[in-house]
Amino acid sequence: MLKLDNHASGRHFLHIPGPSPVPARVLRAISFQTIDHRGPEFGELGLKILSDIQKIFKTKHPVIIYPSSGTGAWEGALVNTLSPGDLVLMYETGQFATLWKKLADRLGLKTEFLGMPGAEGWRYGVDAAKIEERLKADTQHQIKAVCVVHNETSTGVTSNIAAVRKAIDAAKHPALLMVDTISGLASADFRHDEWGVDVTVSGSQKGLMLPPGLGFNALSPRAIEASKTAKLPKAFWAWDEILESNKTGYWPSTPATNLLYGLHEAMDMILTEGLDQVFARHQRLAKACRAAVQAWGLEIQCQDPAVYSPVLTGVVTPEGVDADQLRKLIHERYNLSLGTGLGKVKGRMYRIGHLGECNELALLGALSGCEMGMKAFGIQLKGSGVLAAQEVLQA
Ligand SMILES: *Cc1c(COP(=O)(O)O)cnc(C)c1O
Repeated sequence: MLKLDNHASGRHFLHIPGPSPVPARVLRAISFQTIDHRGPEFGELGLKILSDIQKIFKTKHPVIIYPSSGTGAWEGALVNTLSPGDLVLMYETGQFATLWKKLADRLGLKTEFLGMPGAEGWRYGVDAAKIEERLKADTQHQIKAVCVVHNETSTGVTSNIAAVRKAIDAAKHPALLMVDTISGLASADFRHDEWGVDVTVSGSQKGLMLPPGLGFNALSPRAIEASKTAKLPKAFWAWDEILESNKTGYWPSTPATNLLYGLHEAMDMILTEGLDQVFARHQRLAKACRAAVQAWGLEIQCQDPAVYSPVLTGVVTPEGVDADQLRKLIHERYNLSLGTGLGKVKGRMYRIGHLGECNELALLGALSGCEMGMKAFGIQLKGSGVLAAQEVLQA
C-alpha cells in the first residue's frame, strides 16, 4: 500500500531540486483554518502578500499569482503577451527549456531554438552573443519574444540574464524578454527590474519553500502594454481581471487561500534572513557540494564555473553506471531522494538539490548518503566527498 505518511524512523532526506522540504513554520501556517476569500481579513493578507512578493522578484511592478504549477505560469506569460503565429526565440539549455518550447508550439506560436547540437549544450548556459546575432539578422522584427531559463533545473546550470538583456538592447530589437526562474527564485540572485525582464515566470515549490500549487508572473510595463493587444485565447490566465482585483488584495476567482498563508510565512522567513544572506548561504552550500563531487573524482554536469547553479548540482555517473539504478539503491537504503537525469541525460547523471530550507548538516547528510550509496553500488571513488565538503563549510 502507498504510505503517504512516512513511518521510517528519522526524517526523509528530500534532495530533489524541487519540490524542496517545507519548513515547519510554513506547514503550520498552511494548516490555519481557511477564511472567506471575499472577507475583510483576506484583503489585508492579499495586499501584504502582493507587496512582499515584489521584494522577492526585486520589482516595483505587479506580480500575478496563479493557483497553478510552474507550467501554468509559463502558459500565462505567453498567452497574455503574444498572438497566434508569433515567432519566439528560445534557447536550449536543458529539459525545462525544451518543455517550455513544446508548450509554446502547442499554443500555436512559431518557435526557434538556439543552442549547441546534441547533449553538449546541456552543460552550458545561454550564449548571449548568439541571441544578439540572431536578433540583428531579424531586421523585420518578426521575433516577438526571447525566452530563456535562468536556472536550468535539469542540469544545474544558470544563465546570465543581464547579458541577455544587453544583447537585446545591442541589437536594438523590440522583442520582449521572458525568463523562467521557477527553480531559481529566492535561492539564486534574481533582479526583475534591474535586468529589464518583461515577464518572469516562477513557482512555489522550489526556492520559495512551499508545496507545489502556486505559479507567478512578474510583469513589466511593456508586458502589460503588450497584453492589451495580444490575441492568443485566454480567460483563466488573463492578467487584466486579476490586476484589477489585486488592487484591493483580492482575486477574481477563489485563490489558494492556505498556500497563500504559507507564502506569507515563507516570505517572512526569507526577508528576515535577508535575500543577500539567503543567496550567500546557497552559494556556500553549492560550493561544498561541488567540492564533494570533485573529491569523489566525478564530473559536474555544468562545464562553465561562471554559471554553476547555487540551487542544485548535477553529478555525472561513470561510464556504464545507470544513475537511476544508483538512485534507487540510495533511496531504499538511506531514505534519500535525489533528482533523476531528464531527457538527453537520462541515466547518465543524478541531481543533488540544495535549495530552499537547506543547511550545512542537511547537505552533509545527503552527501553521506550519496557516498555510501555509490560505494555500495561498486563505484570506485577517488576520495571522500563528505570530508571535502566539511572543509569548505568550515573555512
Ligand atoms: C520545476 C520547473 C518547471 C516546471 O514547473 P512545474 O511546477 O512542474 O509545472 C519549469 N521550469 C523549471 C526551470 C523548473 O525547475
